[in-house]
Amino acid sequence: MGTIYSKAKVLHYRDALDRLARNVEGICPPIHIRIKPTNACNQRCWYCSYRLKGVQLGQDMDERDVIPRDKMMEIVDDMVVMGVRAVTFSGGGEPFCYPHLEETALRLANGGVRFASLTNGSRLSGSVAEVFAHRATWLRVSIDGWDDESYARQRRVAVGEFTRVLANMRAFKRLNGPCHLGAALVVDHAVAPHVAELIQRVCEAGVDSVKVAPCIISNVAGENNEYHAPIFDEVKRQIALARERVGDGRVEVFDSYHLQLETFEKSYRWCPYLQLNPVIGADLNVYACHDKAYNLEGGLLGSLRNRRFCEFWMGGKDKFFRIDPSRHCNHHCVANQRNILVHEYLDADTDHLAFV
Ligand code: SF4
Repeated sequence: MGTIYSKAKVLHYRDALDRLARNVEGICPPIHIRIKPTNACNQRCWYCSYRLKGVQLGQDMDERDVIPRDKMMEIVDDMVVMGVRAVTFSGGGEPFCYPHLEETALRLANGGVRFASLTNGSRLSGSVAEVFAHRATWLRVSIDGWDDESYARQRRVAVGEFTRVLANMRAFKRLNGPCHLGAALVVDHAVAPHVAELIQRVCEAGVDSVKVAPCIISNVAGENNEYHAPIFDEVKRQIALARERVGDGRVEVFDSYHLQLETFEKSYRWCPYLQLNPVIGADLNVYACHDKAYNLEGGLLGSLRNRRFCEFWMGGKDKFFRIDPSRHCNHHCVANQRNILVHEYLDADTDHLAFV
């Protein structure tokens, strides 16, 4: 198996990369779209960026929004026709709270679009779990308590949910489908001393990979770094310990803990990734990216309320260049390193390309 979290995946889409710049004719369909089918969630994580005050992400989110079934089917049909390669369902809310998730996933699969989801795992059962096990490319369960009590505190849910989520994960693996099951650990002060223990628990539940990432508590890099500084070394020690414990190479432990704390300042003036991996929100708005979702002033590309997705996307290039990352994106950005890579690729002097 190759490297799942590689930043270089985008370099395999040269046709799309070569059409990104403003002065080049043509618009490429997104390669990968994040869809937030519903803003309803059955948990209440304290650090949830969509509900945390003072973080620009999610500042205009309405928890009642949900993509109506017929509109969702229209969007899926457009994505199939446009040649979109992949869809990830994510929050806003919990994707498995969306009543039409199974139907949407099947329609994508039957149209040749790969799909995946982030989830809290609490509703990972029944026929929707079967569809994901056998047709999805990957599923990532976010988890951060290390036992029933801590999980209940972190997520403000009933004691016993942690055990139930781990049981859902084990049952999902027993369905024996090809879907890659991952876990995402969001690290805060409470979780930090338990990272290795939690990684071991999710490995015992059968996950194929674990991603460790920091909770983001502010738009300001310095405030995030300040929050994480007292636990930084401990988290690194815990990750190393976990790697020793699960050292058979079957499970990839991906350390995303440091990277995301250094992505706030941008030097580039336009964002390649907003054309490659935009977001469709439950409010039927298209946003530049996951880090600007539900920010109407800073992240909105346009609305699908009265038009089809393909009509909106292919109708002119100007909308992709209103955001200047050097001015408008001085906050957390999961695509920053990939944006830098794409800019380097596009900026290479053509006279010198042969001198690899
Ligand atoms: S630079 Fe980052 S935060 Fe800004 S629009 Fe692009 S992906 Fe989003």
